[in-house]
Amino acid sequence: MKGIVAGVDIGSTTAKCVILGEDGQILGKSLSAVGVDIVKDAEKALEAALTDARLARSDVSFITGTGYGRYKVYFGQLVVTEISCHARGAHFLFPKTRLVVDIGGQDTKAIRIDEKGDVVDFAMNDKCAAGTGRFLEVCANALGYDVGEIGPLSLAAQRPLKVTSTCTVFAESEVTSYLSRGKDPKDILAGLHSSIANRTLSLMQRVGVEPEITFTGGVSQNEGMVRALSRRVGSPVNVSPLSQFLGALGAALHGRERLPGGAS
Ligand code: ADP
Repeated sequence: MKGIVAGVDIGSTTAKCVILGEDGQILGKSLSAVGVDIVKDAEKALEAALTDARLARSDVSFITGTGYGRYKVYFGQLVVTEISCHARGAHFLFPKTRLVVDIGGQDTKAIRIDEKGDVVDFAMNDKCAAGTGRFLEVCANALGYDVGEIGPLSLAAQRPLKVTSTCTVFAESEVTSYLSRGKDPKDILAGLHSSIANRTLSLMQRVGVEPEITFTGGVSQNEGMVRALSRRVGSPVNVSPLSQFLGALGAALHGRERLPGGAS
């Protein structure tokens, strides 16, 4: 079918795929873990999204790869950085976005964009897992929770504590030490979330904090993190159930621009 495009985002932790219809509607999507065979993971991500959309591969006119593993999307016709793709995806859902904050499994990015969704500047922390999804997972496990539980719990804190360690290993021991001293896990989690929000704000300040701000990546699904970040920046941040898919959606949109007569 003419005009149907796909975006495949191979991150450090998860693979996402979005199938976009001619009129910009999402026809199907998939989310799966990334393992050791990235080439196969990319294939599987596309197949799962096609199944979700009830389409065959021959129905798709153009495929774009993005993310950390974008060069392993061998079946695609285009490769675009995840920075450009998150910019496009965020702009598509929230056209007034001027700053995108992407917190994924192993890195954090602040991306300043213009009114067309093009990248103006960006800053990135990919040196260590501090402040990323992995960091939250380690601390959640240390407290005996699943990563999906900690955001809502942090919101029920009565006396938030201060978590000062920036290194994942030190933060894990700081968290367990609080626990062994009988502190309430909710208060520890509130401290953890606000410490990540502080660090994320520093990254955002490197490119300039300008509304509207759109939060993307898997960690945007953590409502404790959304709340901590908006409190820290002093304004609401846009978030959507599709936020983890915005890299894949942006990739699909970049592909759509390459079609003859390119939709913009
Ligand atoms: P990447 O693109 O770097 O592979 P993602 O943007 O897909 O990463 O984000 C993956 C991270 O998102 C994981 O570390 C995971 O813990 C976190 N995550 C996903 N869903 C949730 C959720 N509902 N609550 C909290 N964290 C979540």
